[in-house]
Amino acid sequence: MIVEPNVETLPWSEQIRLDDVAYRKQLKYLFTHSPFYCEKLGRAGIDTPEQAGGLADIAQLPTTEKDELRATRTDDQPIGTHLAVPMDKVARIYSTSGTTGVPSYIPLTAQDVQNWVTTSARSYAACGLESGMRMISTYGAGPFVAGAALDAFAKLGLCHIPVGSGNTERLMMAVRLLKAQAIALTPSYALHLAEWARERNIDLKNSSVKHLLVAGEPGGGEPAMRAKLEEAWGAMVTEAMGIGDISPSLWGECPHQQGMHLGGRGFVHAELIDPDSGASIPMTDGARGELVLTHLRQQAAPLLRFRTRDHVMIWTAPCPCGRTAPRVRCIGRTDDMLIVRGVNVFPSAVREVVNRFAPDVSGVISIRPGIKGVKQSPPLKVVVELAEKTAGPGQLAERIESEIRSALVFSAAVELAPYGTLPRSDYKSKIVDFSEARQ
Ligand SMILES: [Zn+2]
Repeated sequence: MIVEPNVETLPWSEQIRLDDVAYRKQLKYLFTHSPFYCEKLGRAGIDTPEQAGGLADIAQLPTTEKDELRATRTDDQPIGTHLAVPMDKVARIYSTSGTTGVPSYIPLTAQDVQNWVTTSARSYAACGLESGMRMISTYGAGPFVAGAALDAFAKLGLCHIPVGSGNTERLMMAVRLLKAQAIALTPSYALHLAEWARERNIDLKNSSVKHLLVAGEPGGGEPAMRAKLEEAWGAMVTEAMGIGDISPSLWGECPHQQGMHLGGRGFVHAELIDPDSGASIPMTDGARGELVLTHLRQQAAPLLRFRTRDHVMIWTAPCPCGRTAPRVRCIGRTDDMLIVRGVNVFPSAVREVVNRFAPDVSGVISIRPGIKGVKQSPPLKVVVELAEKTAGPGQLAERIESEIRSALVFSAAVELAPYGTLPRSDYKSKIVDFSEARQ
């Protein structure tokens, strides 16, 4: 189901034309309402919206980093100087967990909330959710932006069954008793549940669940991981992705399973850059780079060229579903990336290669860098967990090493571990473990 066919099937060139108009208006708004951007653009020698130009010129503007926003926070201005409306116009304030202890606040006006709900509804509908479906969600939404996505479930006419996170018994009970047809969860948790069910002889494959909507971390779009989940659950797996400061569930993958369509089209403009040089990368079919996002109609705290730290691959070729928005798949977080003798290594990409050795491997790996920090010297240690009841065929470690070398161009030292010995997660998996690293 396409939520807004007249919007979502509009030729992309026409969307860009409309976005250019919205973008110029948003720039004017930034210059009159956002102290953060007046200052930031002024420092870059851009003092008027006219100097900033249109969407075609966006790459000449500076990018925005999360830390810059954080640095403008004070006790008097706890949100930061990118707040662009008086507090009495703010309808909702989400926050991120924040690694430093102090959360980052994400304010929204009533209109911003509506736009987020529209975006999420389009993305979830693309994922294959339909009116009348019973869907279990496992979000521990709490203070986080994922909460806005919950309103989208109602908008789509779903029967929403929230079970929260970390309650496997309750979730499986809802599958058995309420005959849920879809579950929204992280790919790690979907994998964990498949193992949990198998250990208890529960036949997931013939359960009522025919659709898994995975989000929260990369993985659901990796072909081998997806195949494993689809096989275990007897269900279709599609993924969704958002980014706190911009919009939850900004992207949603259609049943053709070749990347997530931009559900936030018209509200958000997407670009790619080289994460090292910051240079713009054209949005052509097959291009890869870091995703950079710009609000086009945001009121409370609009962001310009926000660096998501998500490293993605993009598709622009026509999709049979009829949606014309470009599609992305997240390859990994720039923040999780390791560099092995000059080669960028994304932990989730290593897992994808290891998963090609299913059914001999369980799908759980642990990368153990030898040195603290990003730069590593080869070989990089990768602990690969074997599948249940197997010692692995001969030469398995060597064959995985050789596949990693040819697919990812770095040298790994693979160690096999028995099934069930690596930690599982019922939320996000932690692929890199620095416990063996020296300074
Ligand atoms: Zn599609």
